[in-house]
Amino acid sequence: MKHKLLQSVYSSEKFRKHGHELIDKLADHLETALSGNPERVIRWNLPDDEYVFWKGFLENGDTTQLFPEIVKHTTHVHNPKYIGHQVCPPAPLASLAGLIGALLNNGMAVYEMGMAPSAIERIITEFICAKLGYDRNSRGYLTSGGTLANLTALLSARKAIVENDVWNEGSSQDLGIMVCEEAHYCIDRAAKIMGLGEKGIIKIPAEKGFNMNVSLLEEYYQQAAHKGIEVFAIVGGAPSTATGIYDNLGAIGAFAKKQNIWFHVDGAHGGASIFSAKYKHTVSGIDQADSVVIDGHKMMMMPTITTALLFKDGNHSHATFSQKADYLLVHSEEEDWYNMAKRTFECTKTMMSIQWYTLLKTYGEGVFNEYVTTLFDLGHEFAKVIQNDPQFELAVKPMSNIACFRFVDDSLNNSELNHLNENIRQQILEEGEFYIVQTKLRGVHYLRTTIMNPFTTSAHLRRLLEKVKDLAKSTKTTT
Ligand SMILES: *Cc1c(COP(=O)(O)O)cnc(C)c1O
Repeated sequence: MKHKLLQSVYSSEKFRKHGHELIDKLADHLETALSGNPERVIRWNLPDDEYVFWKGFLENGDTTQLFPEIVKHTTHVHNPKYIGHQVCPPAPLASLAGLIGALLNNGMAVYEMGMAPSAIERIITEFICAKLGYDRNSRGYLTSGGTLANLTALLSARKAIVENDVWNEGSSQDLGIMVCEEAHYCIDRAAKIMGLGEKGIIKIPAEKGFNMNVSLLEEYYQQAAHKGIEVFAIVGGAPSTATGIYDNLGAIGAFAKKQNIWFHVDGAHGGASIFSAKYKHTVSGIDQADSVVIDGHKMMMMPTITTALLFKDGNHSHATFSQKADYLLVHSEEEDWYNMAKRTFECTKTMMSIQWYTLLKTYGEGVFNEYVTTLFDLGHEFAKVIQNDPQFELAVKPMSNIACFRFVDDSLNNSELNHLNENIRQQILEEGEFYIVQTKLRGVHYLRTTIMNPFTTSAHLRRLLEKVKDLAKSTKTTT
């Protein structure tokens, strides 16, 4: 028979069989991971060992063991002792929605290649815009990650604010953006990609509590202007990645309005608090933003990678990559909202909107309220336990589900404490019962936790602290 291999590759019967088997295996994994016991969160391997394992597997591995081995060799985000990075344990139904996209594979660049996901994307972004407090002139789209969304928003900002048509004609003019020194590194990267250079990234110092010191805005703006830099945008963190502390969006919005510059909110992690009745005050003032980024794969229970980028004035959402200088004259009713690639950085992109829609349709928006509120509550609860224990020191009182803390001991100096906490985190990683991360803030080494699993309990968190103490004791006696 001709194309025998390809016949087998596309066999619907094989797909059915493998699909059933895989779902069974993943459901087993989910059950074990969620129970948190005795399964480890991570079976740590050195990068070179991992490389050798997969090299060997390609040659000699048992194909039926491929998926199980991948599960075994990854970090289990559904385990309640996974308290590390900001990636969520996806709602299983959202993962299944991802599978539909992975098989149907509509590329979404043009409407004809993704009718349902294109229309759904508009409905989803309208829904988020309304939640932000935007009116009917707003518009948004979904894109591949907060990093790309932040870059796209800043490109829109430049197009909207700077008089010269930099997109089409280039520029030798000095341009700049203002952002808190605590912002995610992708803002820095976006500014560099846009050719602003180091001097075009005006870093506003943070207050003691790691939020942007808004009392310095005027002074820094004038300093930049004095140097001939035209500031066209200011970015507020909602919240910053390392500490989870929100900037004062209301104050930043008022400043942006006064100077007539673009106000962008990087809410990749915590923009989702617009859904929380209890915590939406953290983003008070977000309705003033010209653009907002919210990651679906962080605080909205979706698999990687899907990000909403929302614009208060929908005209900007399709003007960013416009080749025409007179784009603002194009009336919004004439824009073909359904041809996504005109707006997004991507040409082909995944059918990511169906994950959002599936959760919204199945569980209603209350599920996002419950998820965000549960996790933020846990963050505050954890902080209280840490605060009440003299052996620990909190970097800052949390505003979200991110808490940074360290083990302290009066007999050690700061450099010894840094070393000790770094050591503790390494041992936690290698042991694998928990997964947490670390960060350095103003020269101090902290253990960093993000509570992403709504089934993490205060018992798990207390157990983590006990573990840190035990490791501190054993590390101190061996060094
Ligand atoms: C995670 C994060 C980003 C980057 O988003 P990705 O989706 O990982 O590209 C940007 N800003 C903040 C504040 C974040 O927390």
